[in-house]
Amino acid sequence: MNTEKSKRLYDEAIKFMPGGVNSPVRACRNVGKTPLFIDHAAGSKIYDVDGNEYIDYVCSWGPNILGHSDPEVIESVKKACDGGLTFGACHEGEIELANLIQRNMPSMEMLRLVNSGTEAVMSAVRTARGFTRRDKIIKFEGCYHGHSDGLLVKAGSGLLTNSIPDSSGVPKSYTDNTLTAVYNDELSVKKLFEEYGADIACIIVEPCAANMGVVPPKEGFLQFLRDITNEYGALLIFDEVITGFRLSLGGAQEYYGVTSDLTTLGKIVGGGMPLAVYGGKREIMECVAPLGSVYQAGTLSGNPIAVSAGIATLKALERNKDLYEKLDKKAEKLAASMKMAGLNVNREGSLLTVFFTDRKVVDYETAKKSDCKKFALFYSYLLENGIYSAPSQFEAMFVSYAHSDADIEYTCEVISKFELYNINKHY
Ligand SMILES: *Cc1c(COP(=O)(O)O)cnc(C)c1O
Repeated sequence: MNTEKSKRLYDEAIKFMPGGVNSPVRACRNVGKTPLFIDHAAGSKIYDVDGNEYIDYVCSWGPNILGHSDPEVIESVKKACDGGLTFGACHEGEIELANLIQRNMPSMEMLRLVNSGTEAVMSAVRTARGFTRRDKIIKFEGCYHGHSDGLLVKAGSGLLTNSIPDSSGVPKSYTDNTLTAVYNDELSVKKLFEEYGADIACIIVEPCAANMGVVPPKEGFLQFLRDITNEYGALLIFDEVITGFRLSLGGAQEYYGVTSDLTTLGKIVGGGMPLAVYGGKREIMECVAPLGSVYQAGTLSGNPIAVSAGIATLKALERNKDLYEKLDKKAEKLAASMKMAGLNVNREGSLLTVFFTDRKVVDYETAKKSDCKKFALFYSYLLENGIYSAPSQFEAMFVSYAHSDADIEYTCEVISKFELYNINKHY
């Protein structure tokens, strides 16, 4: 595989951007590589600047559920461009997108369009605090909710102590109100409520965790979160930035049959453009300015180009009735081949992660047990065989509607030979 041009561009990029990238995982440092530079992408395939072709299971980290460059989405965006790139004013598309979201996720009685998942979560948490007039929030170790200050916490020094920021540049005081619990561990949540119940504004959770690798919720876990928040007058926020329109049209809340008070969406909802959403019960969202005192605004919010991509994507998802069933079957095939090859795989719908540990991965502690060196080997092996996957153990593989049966079969065949490769590398 020749990647000379990518290497040359990387040498240029590192002069301008930290690590040569605009988002850290892209730097491929976890797997001891330098990034590939992409020339273009179409359907299930992505092409680098050296002309190499890959079957893509990153799918831009989730948005491309229809595959790359879906013709209808591209057409819709081109048409929108002709009308102007931004107005900073109301337009009809905003209503159409809001309608599409709401009829598939009825819990989002009112919503706001924003520009990134980070912004959506930050605003949802602020709204929960404004509505409840409480300051503390509970998040789970290993769940990612964007890079806003108060949420950059994964593990405190013990469950009942306040958490320490993961990032420098975040004052300790900014995370004093962030309590962390253990995913899939009801007792850890219960203890926090017993100690701080009257001060807890909300629980925020990835209803199926996908940022410590894929870790589905245990049976009853989400219902437990629903019940305990009700009991203490706190709100439940589902961060569905990945799971929204991924696990089903109605997101994780439909898939698992548990409804949240507030929901955040991103990735798929923007159809490949920078767009995200937060919303929920009317009485809660009425706290947001100009109706209420929770301030949130955005120059480019509801951008007509991004909105057009979102509308075209959601319409396609609604129209293709068999889409989620097909995605599930494809992902199931991949998972089966991984199991056959002796790999430890977690799967929920079209989200998959292979972990290199003997134990079942159910939370952050067990995810961290995975052997990242072995993962790096797996990653390199796939790449050398024309399969592009996330360069980190703690991410998901995404299956798209554009992945053909031939793509899936080829991928399964490659995976089935991993053991041999592994032995030859004298790991
Ligand atoms: C990607 C992601 C975010 C952050 O979204 P950005 O658009 O990258 O800011 C938040 N929450 C979850 C669950 C995510 O997967």
